[in-house]
Amino acid sequence: MAENSGLYQLHITLSDTETLEIGRLGSCSFPKGKYIYTGSAKRGLNARIERHKRNDKKLHWHIDYFLATETAKITSVEIFKFHEDGECVLNQSIEGKHVVNGFGASDCRNGCKSHFVFVGK
Ligand SMILES: [Zn+2]
Repeated sequence: MAENSGLYQLHITLSDTETLEIGRLGSCSFPKGKYIYTGSAKRGLNARIERHKRNDKKLHWHIDYFLATETAKITSVEIFKFHEDGECVLNQSIEGKHVVNGFGASDCRNGCKSHFVFVGK
């Protein structure tokens, strides 16, 4: 296994209902509440997590656009051992609602609606 690899979940609270521009997905509506974003890093996991927490960055991933709004805050980060396709298994284990199809799932090969799940208020 590569050094510093892993799966991760960002627990995020959105303190207000928002309509945000999410890159090529365009304008998307997000209800106020809690979200879980699932991602993976084959290397550089720590740097990836730090990047998610930073505000001064070029917006690249869908989650960057979401986290750019002041009302979105990462409340905790969970780390899991890396394995191929584990990101999707982990993502599909969350009970919740996929509010934006394709969010964070551009590279998904396992039929996830998105890798960003609304888990309620
Ligand atoms: Zn997936």
